[in-house]
Amino acid sequence: SVLQRDESGDEQARREQIFASAQERYYERPMQIERGWRHHLVDTTGRAYIDMVNNVTGLGHGHPGVADAVNRQIRILNTNSRFLYRELAEYSERLLALLPADSELDTVLLVNSGSEAVDLALRLAQAATGRKTVVSLREAYHGWTMASDAVTTSAYDNPYALENRPDWVHVADVPNRYRGTYRGDDTGARYAADLGADLDALAAEGRDAAAFICESVLGNAGGVLLPDGYLADAYRRVRAAGGLCIADEVQVGFGRMGSSFWGFEQSGALPDLITIAKPMGNGFPIGGVITSKRIADALATQGQFFSSAGGNPLSCRVGIAVLDAMESEGLQENARVVGSRLADGFRALAERHALIGPIHGEGLYLGVELVRDRDTMEPATAEAAAICERMKELGVIVLTTSERSNVLKVKPPLCLTADSADVVVAALDRVLTEGW
Ligand code: PMP
Repeated sequence: SVLQRDESGDEQARREQIFASAQERYYERPMQIERGWRHHLVDTTGRAYIDMVNNVTGLGHGHPGVADAVNRQIRILNTNSRFLYRELAEYSERLLALLPADSELDTVLLVNSGSEAVDLALRLAQAATGRKTVVSLREAYHGWTMASDAVTTSAYDNPYALENRPDWVHVADVPNRYRGTYRGDDTGARYAADLGADLDALAAEGRDAAAFICESVLGNAGGVLLPDGYLADAYRRVRAAGGLCIADEVQVGFGRMGSSFWGFEQSGALPDLITIAKPMGNGFPIGGVITSKRIADALATQGQFFSSAGGNPLSCRVGIAVLDAMESEGLQENARVVGSRLADGFRALAERHALIGPIHGEGLYLGVELVRDRDTMEPATAEAAAICERMKELGVIVLTTSERSNVLKVKPPLCLTADSADVVVAALDRVLTEGW
């Protein structure tokens, strides 16, 4: 056989035989995970870790409500979405009910992942406007499919595309108030004006924008909140230029911000299309686009839209179980309370440890940016990697993000307890005190 099976029981060796080299995994010497429970992961030696990474399992690992929903529904019915069944409408209505009262979005299209959701949102925007150009912000991640990858501008995630980006994508400056062209909280208007100038330039070239896509909080940068006023101003300019606004809420939506269910609510802006995925199924693959009927109906000009498993009764039942649990367990409120405790803990550490720069984000979507110098913001990349390895030894799974891999990304299941938050802060304190 071409494939010599590794019989040693070493999962790492088995996996390396089967995977492509581009398929990344965490850690140099990863632990082998056997099970998960709430915000904990347990390895094959019985060792438990606090999981500060899994934003897909928003409710926590091994959630019984989700397990019951899967078990019950898969015995009753699972079929494709061309049939008529109750669950699709029920789940779609539940999703629409989560929108702010002044939102006019009334249509849901369900798929199976975030990349598919972004792909579909781009296609919808292009169909509805009859235009092609999509404006995406620098340093963003939006997915792996051909279209979502084309608007993925992160040099870290997609170095290939820096030179090979399709000409229907325009990359605009990222409004990062800490590291961007303009620094500080009151930079929203300047960044939005620059975006406006880009839109004018595109129009002058005959490449009018079909859509503007961005995360409502800069996820890849480590949970950096957009500068005040930016998103509403940017959306106004995009619409004035005849384009549509896509909020990628795959990471930042669904209660994680604590003070709001959606990331865009942080900015008081209303998108035309919203992409959602990760936490919708608590690990079960579900994604979707929320938009208006006017935009969704434009897709008919391009033929049929059909996703075999997208919106099937099983995934809808799981989605409903997730929303039920979020409500009954008060997880958005928990994200607000425990997230703010965690951020306070990190800020207190910053007073004693010079390596900690700005603390980004809100709720349970935080970024601890590590810098060698707070003025120059020189990234402490090697230190960040070493800190993650040492945190793992202390029983905390935390990993880095950003183009410079110097931000500790904090995005645990929303059921994280105050006690566990304190353990995480204490572990980071210990690592920073001991050195690495
Ligand atoms: N958009 C954003 C903002 C994401 O973070 C991701 C996944 N990291 C995606 C889209 C793609 O989602 P998926 O991995 O489910 O395809």
